[in-house]
Amino acid sequence: MINKNTKEIWFVTGSQHLYGEEALRKVAVNAEVVADSLSGEAGMPVQIIYKPIVTTPEEIRATCSAASNDESCIGLITWMHTFSPAKMWISGLNCLTKPVCHLHTQFNRDIPWGEIDMDFMNLNQSAHGGREYGHMMTRMRIQRKVIVGHWEDAGVRRQLADWAGVAAAWDEMQHLKVVRFGDNMRYVSVTDGDKVEAERVFGISVNTHGVGDLVEVIQKVTESEVDALCRAYADDYSLSPDLVVGGSQRGSLREAARIEIGLRRFLEEGGYAAFTNTFEDLHGMAQLPGLATQRLMADGYGFGAEGDWKHAALVRVLKVMGQGKSGGTSFMEDYTYHFDPAGARCLGSHMLEICPSISCEKPGCEVHPLGIGGKADPVRLVFNGAQGPAINASLVDLGNRFRFLVNNVESVAIPEEMPNLPVARVLWDAKPSLAVAAEAWIQAGGAHHTAFSFDVSSEQVEMLAEMAGVECVFIDQGTELRSFKQDLRLGEIYYGIRGL
Ligand code: MN
Repeated sequence: MINKNTKEIWFVTGSQHLYGEEALRKVAVNAEVVADSLSGEAGMPVQIIYKPIVTTPEEIRATCSAASNDESCIGLITWMHTFSPAKMWISGLNCLTKPVCHLHTQFNRDIPWGEIDMDFMNLNQSAHGGREYGHMMTRMRIQRKVIVGHWEDAGVRRQLADWAGVAAAWDEMQHLKVVRFGDNMRYVSVTDGDKVEAERVFGISVNTHGVGDLVEVIQKVTESEVDALCRAYADDYSLSPDLVVGGSQRGSLREAARIEIGLRRFLEEGGYAAFTNTFEDLHGMAQLPGLATQRLMADGYGFGAEGDWKHAALVRVLKVMGQGKSGGTSFMEDYTYHFDPAGARCLGSHMLEICPSISCEKPGCEVHPLGIGGKADPVRLVFNGAQGPAINASLVDLGNRFRFLVNNVESVAIPEEMPNLPVARVLWDAKPSLAVAAEAWIQAGGAHHTAFSFDVSSEQVEMLAEMAGVECVFIDQGTELRSFKQDLRLGEIYYGIRGL
């Protein structure tokens, strides 16, 4: 999804010339050890590249400027091994355009009680050097991630890997092209929004093609290409009897394959990593793309239904953020409720387009009527979602700014068979409860569409929002409605002042 060899995070260590050349040599050696060790961490999504230590305003500015201009650099991990007077950092930070993680660590884990002397004290000053540096970043109003702890600690390394995944996702946003086939579903509000602002704030480029442009590509797909893909379907899924060779709906499966090949080709040729469509605008297409959309999502593409370009982008961004994990991220919709007093649940689903990466089983491949849109019956994958902690994330346009929302949920087993429900589905327990979560979500103006992920944490969405300088509200085990609503009111002031 992203190539670990083409993206890198620079490891930049601050010091100064107060302690002599021998001390600086040790700082450099230690920094390289830490950088190499982090780069080799199993879950690290990109390389961590050691950079020569910086000890003067000129060196700091040169490194920050180089980072800003290097396409492969997606962020900086900074560490103050010794004290590094922070006025030296002003010029460099002023020209830095990449995200920063401040690693507040020191080379030794323990104080060497019996041997400690002033040489040791001069060399290991992160405890106060990191505060000097942090003060300047706060004074300059630079949002950054601060991670505290020893660099060999598993929790610290996991946080760094999570942050690196977010940096990769932020880099993806700067290059992300979303194509919309047709416009928004008529009259729908939350799926629409300001595409110009989205490009200014997030870098996402969103543009529309008439669905006829896609139909042209689909019509050029050859029969032998369709044959080959239908064989792959039979390998990957349990085909319903009417879809197998000779079955009464075999033609529908072939049409679904034709759509998938054409759609994939269109996206590849245009450099698009996310797309939308709408059942209201399918001129020239035989069926709404269900199977094609599900399989493209499983391959890492973002998707939003009914013209929802914000969630198409968000699904793609969360897939990049969660790379190297289970792959379980999907477009989602809060569909219907189970108001059982013993445990209220929400059933998430969509008309067709749920990603099989979140499935707990080998999906069935079936064809059923859609009921809306007036097209032929579409083929789709049907499955139950896996179980475990997950998030629902949403991005909305409030008119004067964007807002991220995140709700922690627990995906639970679906207690009974649903033989008449012909769509993929997942059942979750929303935190802290369905009643509080749904009220908070509605008060915050959250969409009915979300990006659902087993891989991405709410902390990672928080980091992404901070990189973008955009508001993010959280609904989790600690949410209490009175303070939540007060936070929304305070956000109106804070983000109103910032003009974001
Ligand atoms: Mn929908």
